[in-house]
Amino acid sequence: MKQMNGEMSDPPKKLKDLKGISIRSANYLIIFAALILYVFILLGMFSISQQYQVLTDETENYISCQKAAADIMEGSNILTEQVRLYAVTAELSYAEAYFQEVEIDRRRESALNALGKPHENSDIRTYLQAALDQSNALMETEIHSMKLVSEAQGYRAKDLPKRLQDAALSAEDLALDDEAKMKKAQELVFGPEYRDAKSQISDEISDSLSYVLDMTDTKQKESADALEKRLSTQRIEISLLFVMNVVIFFCITLLIVKPLQIYIRCIKDNKTLDITGAYEFKYLALTYNDIYELNATNESMLRKKAERDALTGILNRGAFDQLRTDLKIIADPIALLLIDVDKFKTINDTYGHETGDRALKKVADLLTKTFRTTDFPARIGGDEFAVIMTRIDETAKDIIAKKSEQINEILLKGENGLPQISLSIGIAFSEQGFDEGLYKRADQTLYKVKEAGRCGYAFYEEPTSSQ
Ligand code: GH3
Ligand code: MG
Repeated sequence: MKQMNGEMSDPPKKLKDLKGISIRSANYLIIFAALILYVFILLGMFSISQQYQVLTDETENYISCQKAAADIMEGSNILTEQVRLYAVTAELSYAEAYFQEVEIDRRRESALNALGKPHENSDIRTYLQAALDQSNALMETEIHSMKLVSEAQGYRAKDLPKRLQDAALSAEDLALDDEAKMKKAQELVFGPEYRDAKSQISDEISDSLSYVLDMTDTKQKESADALEKRLSTQRIEISLLFVMNVVIFFCITLLIVKPLQIYIRCIKDNKTLDITGAYEFKYLALTYNDIYELNATNESMLRKKAERDALTGILNRGAFDQLRTDLKIIADPIALLLIDVDKFKTINDTYGHETGDRALKKVADLLTKTFRTTDFPARIGGDEFAVIMTRIDETAKDIIAKKSEQINEILLKGENGLPQISLSIGIAFSEQGFDEGLYKRADQTLYKVKEAGRCGYAFYEEPTSSQ
């Protein structure tokens, strides 16, 4: 446990060398990219609404210019209509209506004023102003005509509109008789000169309108082009946003979801984790694997401790009994050797307990060295040992006999300050697994070897066949 805590507080070297995409960096990167894209999209939206506003403004502008032009034309026509009616009928109400338009309704001036600030110095104002000036210039002819009618009719000055009162006729006009005055008055407002002047005003206005139409058309085309460009950029940005979402989806799957699935599978299979996914997951996996391996080592150490005999280091009685149980179910034949040190009490008594212990260790070492690593030597009592041999064939008997002789030969030499010792070995076989009577058969055989004088081995023989 102490060792385990130490491992956790010092990050293992491989953790320091760990490389990979970290979720935190990926997250920051995604947020940053998304922010930039959103800013571009927002700016794009703003620009689109501006372009749209330009388009609307241009249309409104055209409509207001058209209205102003129509109003000026209408104002001029009202004047023409009233002056002509007055020239024909000589009814004062028409002269009054004329001056009502000129002084009070002021349709033409209002139309020009309504163009407002945006057109203060524009060409359209110049055109319309020119039309208005021509209309005003024509007013002189119109007032002249009306004055002639008023004179011809002999209207009193006070009954006439103020402007007519102020108007003066030339001596030539005054010399004309009433009929000639009326005729001249009519000629002035119906004659070709007047009609030319009227058509000039009309031309001026239609010129101004076609100018505005051209201007509007050009500006609308520019705005529409800019709008189209902006919209295609916007489409690209939105597609990028979509692509980014797909990338995010794959990143999450590769860096987070997939590793989690793999880790869960590894944990279920009780395996170490694969080092995969984002940096954080790799870190987690390495740390988990270290703890896992540490636990496994500790567990195996504990298990080994529990299974081993403290003096000799080979399997103890508990492990031997467990093996007996485990091997019951196998289908292979088994050989069991039960081994007892001869006259061990005497060894202890003569040479001391410590020497006795060394002798026991020597026996255990010899058993371990002599038999295969797949065999199981165990100390099952004070001076009692056993060897379980699995995976044996028909040569087993010869092999066991040879090994038994070899062991006794070595022990009888009494090397390394050890007294001469010998073993009695009883051997029995089972056809399939560790059967019920195997231990007993080997024990009986061991007893027989003891009885026969010790220091030797014997194979179990069925009582009937031996007698
Ligand atoms: P036999 O040939 O009939 O087996 O005679 P034996 O003297 O060996 O008799 P037995 O096997 O019954 O005696 C076993 C002795 O082993 C008894 C005990 O004093 C001794 N012994 C048991 N455990 C230990 C141990 O851990 N160390 C030592 N040194 N001696 C032990
Ligand atoms: Mg003994």
